[in-house]
Amino acid sequence: ASVKPEKAKPGPGAGKPVEISSRDRVIFPDSGQTKGEMADYYEALSPLMLPFAARRPISLVRCPQGRAKKCFFQKHDSGTFGDAVHHVPIREKDGGHEDYLFVDDQRGLLQCVQMGTIEFHGWGARSDDVEAPDRMIFDLDPDEGLGFDEVKKAARDIHDKLADLGLTSFALLSGGKGVHVVVPLSTGHSWEQHKDFAKRFAEALSLAEPERFTANMSKAKRKGRIFIDWLRNQRGSTAVLPYSARARSGAPVAIPISWNELKDMDHAHPYSIGDTTVLLDRSQTKALQGWGFADQRLPDL
Ligand code: ATP
Ligand code: MN
Ligand code: MN
Repeated sequence: ASVKPEKAKPGPGAGKPVEISSRDRVIFPDSGQTKGEMADYYEALSPLMLPFAARRPISLVRCPQGRAKKCFFQKHDSGTFGDAVHHVPIREKDGGHEDYLFVDDQRGLLQCVQMGTIEFHGWGARSDDVEAPDRMIFDLDPDEGLGFDEVKKAARDIHDKLADLGLTSFALLSGGKGVHVVVPLSTGHSWEQHKDFAKRFAEALSLAEPERFTANMSKAKRKGRIFIDWLRNQRGSTAVLPYSARARSGAPVAIPISWNELKDMDHAHPYSIGDTTVLLDRSQTKALQGWGFADQRLPDL
């Protein structure tokens, strides 16, 4: 815990707008969105995204030649992104340290986009104290062919079970197939306690309703069920961040949604990076005020 993240040092380019090269490069071949449109999206949405994305170790899905070509998941870099993409040394299992990435502002997000980033994924802890988890996520992964109604019902049931334990939770549409149930937490418990709680919660659900749920990641056990992916809650795991774009067909985005709005959804990818105005407008609606924030502690389970 003595290792501190790198301070945001003003470098030679500090404060300057981030230059986006190859703005016209089409990175979503089926729907036509370009790298420039991706940059515009993150520029517009950064005020909504940064409360969740800033000062948190991140992993990036980069597709420098567009999503039809090779994409890769990136956790580390040698300092090539720019002065607004910072490093935080994190202890590895072998006792050594590795530098992870974090950003603090819009420039940081845009420097990642300049490097071909489409998706932003975040740790469940802040870069200031990576040993103190502050967010639990139940990532609902339905088996192929299972309808979205089942996913919605599962998310709602998890919300209710968490509420029974005194925990407020929020729904995130992943921009892909599923819903993430997000539980913001005050720090003060360990990763071991964090993972343990998530595991036991998911296992209790699958034990109570084995025909609907599994807590086991094997695809074979998923047949007609929803995998409650609690493994997002291990030290070092990540989950897609609210308002991240997805490297999937149509350039969809992961979005916060109220429990009430979720009832009317037919799938998990209603908006794309072209919908900045709608997304900014809906963030002002009453239904989304306070989304993702709650001051609460894990109860004993
Ligand atoms: P969907 O709703 O379609 O499942 P998702 O974002 O939940 O979308 P998952 O495949 O369930 O996608 O993955 C959950 C999380 O696991 C991702 O958001 C990501 O942070 C992490 N993840 C996925 N693939 C990798 C990978 N190759 N390496 C590391 N972490 C990954
Ligand atoms: Mn998922
Ligand atoms: Mn998953």
